[in-house]
Amino acid sequence: MPRLEDEADFVIVGTGAGGATAARVLAAAGASVIMVEEGQRLRPEDRPAALLDAMRLAVRDMCMQATESRVPMPILQGRAVGGSTAINSGIIWRLPDDVRDDWRERFGLGELVDERRIDEVFRQIEDELEIHATEPSILGRNNELMAEGAAALGLPGRAIHRNSRGCKGNARCLQGCPEGARQSMDISYVPRAIEDGARLHTGCRVDKIVMKRGRAVAVEGRGFSIRARRGVIVAAGVVHTPVLLAGSGVRHANLGRRFQCHPGVAMVGRFDQPVHMGFGAAQGYEIPQRAKGFKLEALALPPEMLAARLPGAGVEWQRRLADLGSYAQWCGQIRMKAHGRIRRVFGRPWIAYEPTHEDLLKAREVAVTLGRVMFAAGAKEIFPGVAGFDEVITDPARLDALEQKPVSRADFHLVASHLFGTACASADPSVGVVDPSLAVRGADGLYVMDASVFPTNLGVNPQHSIMAVVWQAAEQLAERARAAA
Ligand SMILES: Cc1cc2nc3c(=O)[nH]c(=O)nc-3n(C[C@H](O)[C@H](O)[C@H](O)COP(=O)(O)OP(=O)(O)OC[C@H]3O[C@@H](n4cnc5c(N)ncnc54)[C@H](O)[C@@H]3O)c2cc1C
Ligand code: SF4
Repeated sequence: MPRLEDEADFVIVGTGAGGATAARVLAAAGASVIMVEEGQRLRPEDRPAALLDAMRLAVRDMCMQATESRVPMPILQGRAVGGSTAINSGIIWRLPDDVRDDWRERFGLGELVDERRIDEVFRQIEDELEIHATEPSILGRNNELMAEGAAALGLPGRAIHRNSRGCKGNARCLQGCPEGARQSMDISYVPRAIEDGARLHTGCRVDKIVMKRGRAVAVEGRGFSIRARRGVIVAAGVVHTPVLLAGSGVRHANLGRRFQCHPGVAMVGRFDQPVHMGFGAAQGYEIPQRAKGFKLEALALPPEMLAARLPGAGVEWQRRLADLGSYAQWCGQIRMKAHGRIRRVFGRPWIAYEPTHEDLLKAREVAVTLGRVMFAAGAKEIFPGVAGFDEVITDPARLDALEQKPVSRADFHLVASHLFGTACASADPSVGVVDPSLAVRGADGLYVMDASVFPTNLGVNPQHSIMAVVWQAAEQLAERARAAA
């Protein structure tokens, strides 16, 4: 097979929230840009409804990527053009003010998250990606029931703001939107960058960044070599960015450390009315509990996954299966305090992460709150999914007992998809793998523009913040490149 050779001003590794936004901004500024993506470009009509097919096509390791611990925690990431945005629910939140203040004060990132400028960037992204609250006509019962439960308990819920255009509410966001309605990066910023002249190479896993006299000059993988005249931008996601940097000779005490996330727990409830999760925005309603460190969200599951969540075996399980249209599923994302580490072992990521005791108490609080909202919405029984506790609860008073249960890591089926921190940005060279312009310390022409640079987790869904922070950094980079030309 002939070797692929190409060259541009900027070579971007990865096309997720970070990489695609960098490409969109740099290409619009007139720079020549090449995006290099390990996964494939999938058209909306290629996105299968069947979960296994969808996972095989677009999810890293078919959801088998997990922490190396006594109780492994799945770490979900997309591997396709659009990265994790190609398999996400389109939930949009701006960077919270308290996080922005913290980053400015403790990490010296004032210019990167400058209040006035970043608000303008948020507005532009919201405009371009058609961000708006989920319309009542496509909420569906799974979302509506959460709204009813929140109202009954006086909790502050709201319809989720999403990036979508013409959503049909067929609840398939996580398999990939078959309508091309969700404005994920494969539908929005990647094509936009291509319109502005950028090129895209798919099925190309970058194994190494080539450094010459301390400068990043090219990326290489099996069968390809792509030269970068002005810079290499690594946006391979929080797990693979530090592995790629470490394998290319970058050394910093914090590279791969400070790994943070928002692990989630989920709960199923049975109602005596049709819920039919197959209709509605996959995630259309939320109950933010920021002060408590978590956020509840409705989360529709495809039937094969829902069936696997039902308790019991044999006849009992079959009886429950017959009620498949009457279940709701909701989850809670937790802003955990734990820090983990990602290392490069035999060229692959090795993920170490253990929630703290305080984090596990929070997971218990989320389970109890989900249960209370479900009963308030009229659930007849709930399946808490907490090991060592009742498989099925029909009496809401049992939630008081759950609230007192001693916690251990094995109690909770945690899953994480919001990841942060493994190439932290900071003005302090001893803390930041990258400086506030997102340039890698100790290397010329090498940048990181994805969620790896976030010094802390957020407590809200991250894609909007990743896009806005990268937008700022890419714009500054384009200006410097113009000035130097
Ligand atoms: C199932 C799921 C649901 C989510 N729901 C939401 C939501 O509703 N709202 C929200 O705000 N956030 C959500 N998120 C999180 C959000 O999608 C991510 O935080 C965001 O996409 C991360 O952006 P990123 O650029 O850091 O990495 P990614 O988007 O993960 O992109 C990294 C890209 O790099 C590629 N890559 C990796 N290594 C290499 C290599 N060596 N060579 C070439 N390419 C490489 C990958 O294939 C991938 O395409 C969800 C995530 C998941 C997994
Ligand atoms: S609910 Fe269906 S149509 Fe709407 S964005 Fe998700 S996958 Fe697309």
